[in-house]
Amino acid sequence: MKAIQAIRGMNDILPQDIPFWQHLEATTRAVLESYGYEEIRTPILEKTELFSRSIGEVTDIVEKEMYSFEDRNGDSLSLRPEYTASCVRAGVEHGLLFNAIRRLWYAGPMFRHERPQKGRYRQFYQIGAEAFGLAGPETDAELILLTARLWKRLGIDGLRLEINSLGSATARAAHRQNLVAYLQQHIDELDKDSHRRLKTNPLRILDSKNPAMQALVDKAPRLIDYLDDASRTHFKTVEQILQTAGIDFTVNPRLVRGLDYYNHTVFEWITDRLGAQGTVCGGGRYDGLVAQIGGKATPGVGFSLGCERVIALLQESDTRISHRAPDAYLIAVGEEAARAAHPLAEALRDALPKLHLIVDAGAGSFKAKMKRADRSTAKLALVLGDDEMSHQRIAIKPLRSGEAQRSVAQQALAEQLKTLI
Ligand code: ATP
Ligand code: MG
Repeated sequence: MKAIQAIRGMNDILPQDIPFWQHLEATTRAVLESYGYEEIRTPILEKTELFSRSIGEVTDIVEKEMYSFEDRNGDSLSLRPEYTASCVRAGVEHGLLFNAIRRLWYAGPMFRHERPQKGRYRQFYQIGAEAFGLAGPETDAELILLTARLWKRLGIDGLRLEINSLGSATARAAHRQNLVAYLQQHIDELDKDSHRRLKTNPLRILDSKNPAMQALVDKAPRLIDYLDDASRTHFKTVEQILQTAGIDFTVNPRLVRGLDYYNHTVFEWITDRLGAQGTVCGGGRYDGLVAQIGGKATPGVGFSLGCERVIALLQESDTRISHRAPDAYLIAVGEEAARAAHPLAEALRDALPKLHLIVDAGAGSFKAKMKRADRSTAKLALVLGDDEMSHQRIAIKPLRSGEAQRSVAQQALAEQLKTLI
């Protein structure tokens, strides 16, 4: 029979890579919680409408990338392509955001039907945070400082920070007029997508990844030149806080992000080490989103990082991350020893709750078992053979230190291990 394979663009994460994932997850959780963010977990499936209403009908994500289907009741559902919309939906539904300041974080898989390549998958993981009820630029800056601290804790350097302001809705409307006029003058140079977007969502054209469009996009009117005073002050304050905190950044007037809900500050952390998939983390402010999803108007700001891309950076740097080696590897040789091995191991686990112990009972020669003990990277082998069984003893054989083997009473083993591990 032909073996069944995973879906294209959806990865198995194998044991050899898990230490990197656990390291990223634990470090991120610790940093987020140290800033007062609380974890939230929402369903992977949502009503399709949640995403079309929040991310925007005329975005790559909603137009071409969502995994949407009708369930048995005929309702249109989608696998979440991002988490902010779900966070807002849950926050509104459970009254978490009403008249409150809320800091939430999340982690989990997202789904987008993109062309799979290095750093771009159809199921990928994000960890992110959202702060609600805080309209000031200080919170935009706090999230950027938090992410900067995260890179430091993870030992990732060389990331570049780009920021921009999308201003207020009024500023975007004024910019839109001139942008459309400019693009219409160059209508022959627009690709198919941009042609369509000229009417529906011209700002999206600036986010085009088509190299043939870059020259045109580069010369287009810049939204940042249309900011009103309040937006300019907001952005200036973000810049000042970053400068005072010693965080380097560049202002990229063409940074618009791929989702429609942003206003004011947007930012991305970018690396040159991952080819075209260089953005490892992105975020920004979205003051209109909560009302758009049906809640009472509440400001919001957040970010999301791509776990696969961050892990690719961790794996190529020298960061030493490895499995915790077992403390001990228990070898039982012979029928009687094999029967005694697990009860003995359970007693050890009762006495030493942190003990990392592998039991090798059942069939196989002593030699084969010793080989496996060595390969396990355990510090000690515990050997239980016929001889040991008849005297209620057990041999302790250090595997890494070159120290001599010794024999102890089974009764005294837990006490002995306490000093050895
Ligand atoms: P890109 O420009 O690379 O397509 P994006 O702007 O679509 O990214 P966001 O929606 O802001 O990305 O998601 C935040 C982060 O999630 C990105 O910075 C990236 O690290 C990661 N990410 C997004 N899409 C994918 C994907 N298909 N595969 C792996 N990681 C992804
Ligand atoms: Mg994208």
